[in-house]
Amino acid sequence: MNPLRILHLEDSPLDGDLVRAWITRGGIVATIDRVENRAMFEDHLCKGHYDLILADYALPDFDGVSALAMTRRKNTCVPFIFVSGTLGEEVAIETLKQGATDYVLKQHMERLAPAIERALAEARERDEKRRAVEALREADRRKDVFLAMLAHELRNPLSAISNSVQLARLPDASPQRIAWSLDVIHNQVDQLSHLIDDLLDVTRITQGKIQLRKRVLDPAEIARRAVEAVSPLADERGHELICSIDDRLPSVEADPTRIEQVLVNLLSNAVKYTESRGRIELALSGTPEIVSIRVKDNGVGIPVDMQSRIFEPFAQVESSLHRSRGGLGVGLTLVKKLVEIHEGKVHVRSEGVGSGSEFIVELPAAKQSRIVGDRTRSGIDRSATPRRFTILVVDDNFDAAAAVASFLELSGFEVVVAHDGRSGIETARKVRPRLVLLDIGLPVVDGYQVAADLRSHPETRNILIVGLTGYGEDNARERSRHAGFDHHLVKPVELAKLVELVDALIAEQESRPDDFGRELAHPA
Ligand code: ADP
Repeated sequence: MNPLRILHLEDSPLDGDLVRAWITRGGIVATIDRVENRAMFEDHLCKGHYDLILADYALPDFDGVSALAMTRRKNTCVPFIFVSGTLGEEVAIETLKQGATDYVLKQHMERLAPAIERALAEARERDEKRRAVEALREADRRKDVFLAMLAHELRNPLSAISNSVQLARLPDASPQRIAWSLDVIHNQVDQLSHLIDDLLDVTRITQGKIQLRKRVLDPAEIARRAVEAVSPLADERGHELICSIDDRLPSVEADPTRIEQVLVNLLSNAVKYTESRGRIELALSGTPEIVSIRVKDNGVGIPVDMQSRIFEPFAQVESSLHRSRGGLGVGLTLVKKLVEIHEGKVHVRSEGVGSGSEFIVELPAAKQSRIVGDRTRSGIDRSATPRRFTILVVDDNFDAAAAVASFLELSGFEVVVAHDGRSGIETARKVRPRLVLLDIGLPVVDGYQVAADLRSHPETRNILIVGLTGYGEDNARERSRHAGFDHHLVKPVELAKLVELVDALIAEQESRPDDFGRELAHPA
């Protein structure tokens, strides 16, 4: 431990030695600077950094109370203890009122060491509290910045959507213009969904609520999917996107969706933070123990002092070059958290502003390393699934119901629509659909009650139920699972994905012996 640094105001060398002796005797390791007058005290106070000040009360040209005032004026809360032979009780109390930490009479020097220990412990406690308050203030400031940014980031896509809607509604809007507007709306909705997903994911991981669906997989496969996902964006900005993958790559045991999310985030950043016509590289290499994934760009780079903070929530490089690219500052936080829950590591390298950046993700190789193909949708061949089924859509939002219904019809399904829970139940009994797409927030009888009703009657018990809701939280998923839903989708849903899901659920149901399958899925 470092010795304690003490400034001692005492004109008598003898008393100085006495104090030193008692301090040593009390087991305190200290370096003590003794000063004898005002000038020396002031000089040391300004230049030195002391953990503690000890002061005599009366000196020939100076006094301890003035020394105390001088110390406090310097706005320092360093512990200040009077050590004096002449301090009466009243004066002692007065010094405490003026900000002294304690006093020790020279007749009772055995009290000195304990008084010092106490004063230091109190100072430490004060320091901790101060740091905690500062951390809270900083968190509060970051929250304000974040909210302002969130509003900004939400407003941008919203205004693009609003403009496109207005354009499409113009009386003379051509089919091309309408198609263009729909494209804009589609892209912006994607962006909004992505933003909200990232935010919710960060919270879920922080609360330990994300469940990984790990399997042994070929990292090259994930890399290819990630490249496919960001290619349109890279093309738009004229970037060259190069992907190099070592032949001898071990497999990893990981959740493919989450690892793809990591790579897509890193690649999208590389695209975003590189001026047009840049060069972006994705390189995968490995040893028998580790797979390294490097995403390198020749973009704007990251200042050296920001590199340790860049993975913290909402951290962004505050330069106009960076900020003009938008974003909430949660992408890299998510990357780090996702990599860490896979027992991996991620770090950044950049020579600084203007020198490009490189992000390196390291994932442990799978224990029994082997390459396994993507079998998530094993046995489902969409083209072979005849779509002669009826789907019931229950949604109180007429527009939403109509849009989903017409998309499902275009995909070859028979569709019936109901706009509230009660008529949903009646229609289901009458029509016996194969699957119900059920909004949860319905008036009078909500989606949970509809599901419970369908499950409790033999004629509707086997209908597949897919919940559709604006509530993505885990407890909403849990609740819908409990109510007997087969699947839970969060709005907005990409309709093409919905059709894939419907096909998959039906195929899965067909692969089970009917009643047995239902028994397993929904025990009575
Ligand atoms: P966002 O991009 O939404 O701001 P991220 O968490 O993904 O949030 O990134 C945080 C910050 O790190 C960005 O705002 C940007 O300043 C910096 N950054 C991330 N990736 C790169 C990169 N490839 N090149 C330069 N800066 C980057």
